[in-house]
Amino acid sequence: MAKSGKADLEAWETALRVAVPACGAKILAGMLAEQGTGRREEEVVCRCGQRMESQGIRGKGLRTILGPVAYERSMFKCPACRETRYPGDEALDVAGTTRSPGLRRMMARAGSQSTFKDGRDDLRIYAGLEVSAKDVERVAERIGQEMEAWSQEERRRTPAEEGPEPENDIPMMYIGYDGTGVPMRPEELVGVKGKQPDGVAKTREAKLGCVFTQTAIDEKGYPIRDPVSTTFVGAIETAEAFGWRIYGEARRRGLLRAQRIVILGDGAEWVKNLAELHFPQAVSIIDLYHVREHVSGLCRILFGSNEKKMERRRQRWWELLDAGRVETIVFQARRHLPEDPDLKKAAEAEIRYLDKNKERMRYTEFRAQGLFIGSGVVEAGCKTVIGQRLKQSGMEWTVREANAIIALRCVMKSNRLEDYWESRVA
Ligand SMILES: [Zn+2]
Repeated sequence: MAKSGKADLEAWETALRVAVPACGAKILAGMLAEQGTGRREEEVVCRCGQRMESQGIRGKGLRTILGPVAYERSMFKCPACRETRYPGDEALDVAGTTRSPGLRRMMARAGSQSTFKDGRDDLRIYAGLEVSAKDVERVAERIGQEMEAWSQEERRRTPAEEGPEPENDIPMMYIGYDGTGVPMRPEELVGVKGKQPDGVAKTREAKLGCVFTQTAIDEKGYPIRDPVSTTFVGAIETAEAFGWRIYGEARRRGLLRAQRIVILGDGAEWVKNLAELHFPQAVSIIDLYHVREHVSGLCRILFGSNEKKMERRRQRWWELLDAGRVETIVFQARRHLPEDPDLKKAAEAEIRYLDKNKERMRYTEFRAQGLFIGSGVVEAGCKTVIGQRLKQSGMEWTVREANAIIALRCVMKSNRLEDYWESRVA
């Protein structure tokens, strides 16, 4: 090509990118040749406990990031239950799949970042790999499920006691809860109560939790989140199941070593119940910005007929709210209840919300203690972990698919991808 006289760098580099991996695939095949066969030191035992018998050698085609590689390994069979095993495949982490770990890793990443079709295109353009969109989907989903199993196991294994005297080396641990609707296929929505006016549901709620820590405050007294301390867990599941999930994550992150625990939420009832159940010792804070919206809504109900009056009142009540003086707002609001029965009912609901949650709205005290008073971290998580991937226009998910991708993205956005792949090597 170089001697043809016509310089074409792009053609050269593209041709080399095809040729060089093909060379690598040959070398890789040589390296694999000895792996799956030969005498074994230990005997191969079946799940049922029986010693398995060698059945000779079987070939297998592997797909790797260098291209296809042929490989041979010994097959073992259980004389009792007829189960088969390929110890060579297990050692290489290719049991039950024809895709190498490196390829699976790339496909999972591609499928977690964007649509499966975009993922397929990215793999072709960036890595010269030809896979189908369906392949990307299958692999991303399976790895998501494996990550879910891995993190469940990790939570289960967190020891009940962490030594006789845990060192209280985490000054502040924050736990945030939130939920966001994920668009679902119609068959996944049977019996789900909808938010649409006609009662039809289009989405199911994915619950997301975050855990982060805080050590320092800045010169103005505002808290600073510890860098790279945020991890996420999430799923479409019942509040009860999710409660244990986030509790397990907090435990994994060193809950017993935390001097103070702070719960950040939007005031939803399920969040409150879970926080009381799992973290009775925690300070519970409702996101200031959510409460402001409630207060604005209450102003609209009570004073909506007079724009100026409504605005004045809203400003005044936001100031009271910032000062944590919720009782004053409740007291004043009760004196202005409207005559209209529907409006009155709506107003009373908002007043009840404020009254019931007032201890979670002591913003002056919280600020004085240098605490975060907003649930921005978990809300941003709803957008980046779930929204950006699962809520694109035209998407419809099954619970199974959505949960696999949520698990995958939680691991990614928690910066735990390496932990996961290392655990597989181990
Ligand atoms: Zn067996």
